Formats: sequence, structure tokens, C-alpha cells
Amino acid sequence: MKQIKCNTYSIHINNWEAVNNYISVGDYSSLFVVVDENTLQLCLPLFEEKINAKFHIILTQSGEKNKTIDSCQIIWNKMIHLGADRHSLCINLGGGVIGDMGGFAASTFMRGMDFIQIPTSLLSQVDASVGGKLGVDYNNYKNLIGIIKNPGAVFIFTDFLKTLPYKHLLSGFAEAIKHGLIRAEDTFQKLTHVDSLANIDWEDLVYESVKIKKTITEADPYERGIRKVLNFGHTLGHAIESFALSSKKQLLHGEAIAIGMIMETYLSYLCDFISLQEAKDVKNKILKLYGHHPSIIPNIETLFGLMSKDKKNKGGILKFSLLQKIGEGNFDQEVTKEDVEKSVIFYKA
Ligand code: NAD
Repeated sequence: MKQIKCNTYSIHINNWEAVNNYISVGDYSSLFVVVDENTLQLCLPLFEEKINAKFHIILTQSGEKNKTIDSCQIIWNKMIHLGADRHSLCINLGGGVIGDMGGFAASTFMRGMDFIQIPTSLLSQVDASVGGKLGVDYNNYKNLIGIIKNPGAVFIFTDFLKTLPYKHLLSGFAEAIKHGLIRAEDTFQKLTHVDSLANIDWEDLVYESVKIKKTITEADPYERGIRKVLNFGHTLGHAIESFALSSKKQLLHGEAIAIGMIMETYLSYLCDFISLQEAKDVKNKILKLYGHHPSIIPNIETLFGLMSKDKKNKGGILKFSLLQKIGEGNFDQEVTKEDVEKSVIFYKA
């Protein structure tokens, strides 16, 4: 059982009593639990067993393709139908899709009702539930419509990870590795020391990782500066993820970020921040967990086309968040096309 205090709310790890306290102190007129079909089946039973309150269930369809305004309309319609008001509480029980979308739907319903996050995937526990970014995809642009608003509280239960498919565990693990690379070398070394995720102390991992994200996002909630370090691995990673999506290849967000981190570590070497040996070490450690997928990388023109749509670019110039050293991220680094080509060769070798 652990707790992390943020400026305006708390993140509780493995503490059901804290959820019950939160609900009873809030004296809410009604409770709504947003789930998808997987968390309805695999996570709601434990929630029902532990919570001493009545609630309505709002079911949405799982997956990124359903992180849309249409799904928000389903949530809003259900809330209206069930008599939700501004004194109701929305409880988002699910992965990052439910957290981002349910949080957005709640924050905009009647100009905002309270919501709490109960993230059930590793990615949402170590990353999506912290930092207040909420929203939906629009016209195939990821997270185009959204707001930044913190929840009333975050309650993380690592028991939920027992039913999460291994591929999704690995996907979330990539963000924890990233947190180590940009903020805590010892965390990076500890996480990548393992050959599989079989014997991880999840409570410990989630706690360390959330602390890193919390510290960075609190220092810069609106991503004007230091928060950009969290984008390490994501400029190339997002482009590879988009390419995989458009070519119907199976690649989860974290798997794409793992590839992006290898390439952007090499860019950090080309910018003279780290040594070639360090770049090779990061590559080997990530490949050991994620395998090698050279055929998933598009040609350089396609890659550049996809990167040019990146939200971090300014005035048409590509900006990268790189590693100043292992365990310390930087941001707003300009990189040439030739260097990106070299980073592709480095990954593929
Ligand atoms: P997801 O919500 O789609 O969950 C992945 C899959 O796992 C889904 O099929 C879900 O139903 C299932 N699932 C969730 N918990 C489970 C459990 N305990 N057992 C079995 N199955 C379970 O995706 P995700 O990987 O959790 O999150 C990705 C989303 O998070 C993306 O939309 C991304 O944009 C967003 N995100 C947001 C932030 C942020 O700061 N707000 C940060 C990172 C990612």
C-alpha cells in the first residue's frame, strides 16, 4: 500500500479503503462506472466486491478505434438517461482509452463533474492516469480534442495486471523504461536487468514510475518546457505506430515506443550527448525484451512525412526529446534528416 501526494489530488496504490473513503466523503448524488467489455468482465467483479456503494455501469467498446466523440455521446446519453447531475461521480475503470475518454466526458458534462481514475492496464497505471491529459481522437488524429484536468484521485491496483495480456504488459513496461532513461538511470538498469516480466514487483515498479511522471508533469503541467522530456522515444515511435496502423501491422503503442527509444538514443549519440557504447547497451537491453522488428520501419520519406505531423514540431522544424545522458532527458533538439536515416540503420543492424 503506497501513496503519492500531488498538488491537488493523491495517487493511492493498492488501497481499497481509500476508494471507499473518497466516495463516502464526497457524498455524491450518484456514481457512474465507465468500463469496456474487457474491464466489465475482468475488473468490475473485484471492484464490486470491494466497494460499499451502489453505482450505474456505463459500457463502452474497447480499443483506440473507439476513443471517439461518438463514444463520449454514448457516455453523455447514458448519464442523462440515468439522471446524472453535477454532484455525481464518474469512475473510470479501464486502460488509457477509458481514462482519457471517460475523464474527458466527465469534465465536459454539465461543465464538469468529479471523476476518479482506476487504471487497469500497466500503461495507464504508469503513464496515462497521471498528468491530467484527457481527450479523444478525431478524424484519425490522435488526442486531437481534449483538455488538461486532474482527477479527484487516482487509485491503482496492481492485482488488475494479473488478467492483462502479456503484450499489453510489455507495452506499458516501455513507458516505465522511458521514465528510467529520462530521470533515473538506476531504475532503467533495474528494469532492463530482467529477461521477462514474470517476477516483477509491480507495486514497486508502479510507485517509482508514477513518482517520476508526477514530478515532471507537476513542474510543467501545460508542456511548455520540461514536460517535453516525456516525449523521448515518441517522435519516431509515434511515426512508426501510425505506419503500422495504416499498414494493418500489429504493433502496440509501447512496442513502437521501444523502437523509437532505440533510434532516439542513437540520435543522442549523434548529438554528442552519450557514447556509442551507451547507445548500443540501451539497444541490446530493449531488444532483449521486445525483439527485433526491422521490417516494421517504413522508408525514410514515409517516416519523415509521418513525423512532420508531430504535435511537437514548431514552424516546420522537427524537435526531438533526447537523452542528455542515461537517466537525464532533454528537449527541443533539432536533428537532421541524415541523422534520422542513420538512426534507422542503427536500429536495423
Ligand atoms: P486500452 O485502454 O485500449 O487497454 C488495452 C487493452 O487492455 C484493452 O483491450 C482493454 O480492454 C484491456 N484491458 C485493460 N485493463 C485490463 C485488465 N486488467 N485485464 C485485461 N484486459 C484489460 O489501452 P492502454 O494501453 O491502456 O492505453 C492506451 C491509451 O492511453 C491511448 O489512447 C493513449 O493515447 C492513452 N495515453 C494517455 C496518456 C495521458 O497522459 N493521458 C499517456 C499515455 C497514453
